[in-house]
Amino acid sequence: MAELMNGKRGLIMGVANERSIAWGIAQAMAREGAELAFSYQGEAFGKRVEPLAESLGCDILVDMDVTDDASLDAGFAALWERWDRIDFLVHAVAFSDKAELTGRFINTSRANFKTSLDISCYSFIEIARRTRERMTEGGTMLTLTYGGSNRVTPYYNVMGVAKAALEASVRYLANDLGPEGIRVNAISPGPMKTLAGAAIGGARKTFRHTEANAPLRHNATLEAIGGTAVYLASDYGNCTTGEIVTVDSGFHVLGMPQPDHL
Ligand code: NAD
Repeated sequence: MAELMNGKRGLIMGVANERSIAWGIAQAMAREGAELAFSYQGEAFGKRVEPLAESLGCDILVDMDVTDDASLDAGFAALWERWDRIDFLVHAVAFSDKAELTGRFINTSRANFKTSLDISCYSFIEIARRTRERMTEGGTMLTLTYGGSNRVTPYYNVMGVAKAALEASVRYLANDLGPEGIRVNAISPGPMKTLAGAAIGGARKTFRHTEANAPLRHNATLEAIGGTAVYLASDYGNCTTGEIVTVDSGFHVLGMPQPDHL
């Protein structure tokens, strides 16, 4: 059977370790024949990403801190030395001060509001602008969001606002870049056991609650998120843009918990 991503090249941003959503996506893309490059945030993360990238036969690793223009300039310069064209981008990057991912939303500080929106939302716009130039044969941009963007989820707080802004950015970017044959979508998984996920207050309870109540009675998996990314970035996704695709075992359709859990 033909591999769905044969001949396509993509940059994967946001692998911190083997539990990262970006890693699940990278594995699925590689399985389907994609050629990959990885970006990481600073040397410490780089050391962890290197063996993972190697295991997929990939040797393009670039250091990119999305808050630092000089780091992005240098990272993209290094990437474009290896590739003159790119077909897809996976942006799986987010950050907020852990101290504000607990307690009340009303206590959000100006400083952490700016940082959270900058790293978790603005960076997608910035990276979209930088990769678009090399999507000369059209392409796909993917980011990761969470349902706390439009419904209150305990302790998600300012990240909910950042994800709402990110989802709106997906729609505006989709409209801007559509005429160039570039599609822009977000994947919205349910709670996952990752570094970023663990930073949110009550993460374990949220994980258990969705597992117990979602229509499918399980949480999302890295395999399912990876498969969804492949569908969106492959030619089968050719008529889908500006979309938020939910991968949460159906949890978002519920109005109430299951009767046994009321
Ligand atoms: P993760 O901790 O594995 O990945 C987060 C990544 O963001 C890390 O690789 C980190 O290095 C990167 N990052 C943070 N600040 C950065 C900066 N300044 N420059 C460059 N990179 C930076 O966690 P994850 O859960 O795999 O998160 C990936 C994406 O998925 C995030 O957007 C997150 O909000 C989203 N998401 C997570 C969940 C969940 O429950 N874990 C659910 C839905 C969506």
